[in-house]
Order: sequence, then structure tokens, then C-alpha cells
Amino acid sequence: MKIADDRPAKLSTTRRDFIKTASALTGAAVLCPLDFCCVARAAGQPEAIIIRGHHLFDMLEALGTGKSSHKTLGPVAQKTRANPEVPIKVVIGVDDICAPCEWWDRAKAHCKRSLTTHPQDNENSMASDKNAIRVLGLKPGDTMSAADLYRLIKTKVTKKVFAEEVCVACRLVNKCKETYESRIEAAVKALSGPRS
Ligand code: SF4
Repeated sequence: MKIADDRPAKLSTTRRDFIKTASALTGAAVLCPLDFCCVARAAGQPEAIIIRGHHLFDMLEALGTGKSSHKTLGPVAQKTRANPEVPIKVVIGVDDICAPCEWWDRAKAHCKRSLTTHPQDNENSMASDKNAIRVLGLKPGDTMSAADLYRLIKTKVTKKVFAEEVCVACRLVNKCKETYESRIEAAVKALSGPRS
């Protein structure tokens, strides 16, 4: 059926083009110039999921439990949990969670959720994106399987590193750090064992 076959490729291209454009607006270093997604799909591999640095940590709870009420993070986490070998491409700025989110301002390329009450949030999120990728020893655009990536996070990001190097600028860090160790443990376990 021609229409059904063409539709996913068209949507996927639109998503990549949007993220490339939006990332350019934010000045973020982002996607592989060789367009890894197309190379991977042509080789029969699953398309990489694009995740900004600090969302790797926001996804921990959903990866561990399989549950999330977040409309755009939840589906990405569930897709990852269902296939731990799916490639994840780490980026700074807009990703597969922000791009479809109701709070993402495409024109201004930033999150508008807390702009009035917490105007520094976007800047701090970008700092956390950069910190996360640096601490992991990666570069923006680097890609690896979800299972390997979360094992790397567990190895490199202790509670102290999480609080003092990755999310150091975030206003929620003191609360998040208290559950970080149990959440990374559960996420790695979920990506290593049989799927529930
Ligand atoms: S747009 Fe804002 S609220 Fe939505 S996923 Fe991105 S950072 Fe979170």
C-alpha cells in the first residue's frame, strides 16, 4: 500500500528537518552532518532517538518504572524501554521530547513553560545538556545503544557528579539528587533484563 509505506518516512524527514532548524536557531551543536538517521535506516537499523543531555536524566523514572504522565517524554521512554538496543543520539537543545511538546516555542527555540516564574530555566537546561555530554566523555551527535548509554551513565555519573557537575545549575537538583541512585539503578536494570 503506497500511502502507508510512504507516511513514516515523510514524518521522519519532517522531524529531522525541524530539529536541525531549531537547533541552528539555538546555536547548539547538534546533528551528524552525515545524517546518521538515514544511513542507519538504509542499513536496516532502527532510526536513532534524539535526546538532549539533561533529558537522559529526566527519563530515568519512566525507564525504570515504564510509567510517565509526561505526554512527550513518556512515549520516548517507553519506546526506549521496549527496545534497549535502539540508538540514542545525544544533543544540546531541542530533541524528540521537546519538539512535539506543547510548551516548545518553535519560533524562539526555547521552552516557554516557566518563562515568567523562572526565566533562567532555558539557559540552565542548556548548561545541563552540555554538562551531561561532557561528563559522559561524549560529543554532541554521538550515538550509542540505549542500554550501553545508560550503563555508561551509571558508571560515570555518581550522585555527587549528578548534583555537582551535571545538574548543578538546575533549581530542582537538591530534590532530584535524593532519588538519583535508585532511579539510575532501576533504569539500567530495565534496559538489561526481560521487558515487562
Ligand atoms: S518543551 Fe519544556 S516542558 Fe516540554 S519537554 Fe521540553 S523542556 Fe520539558
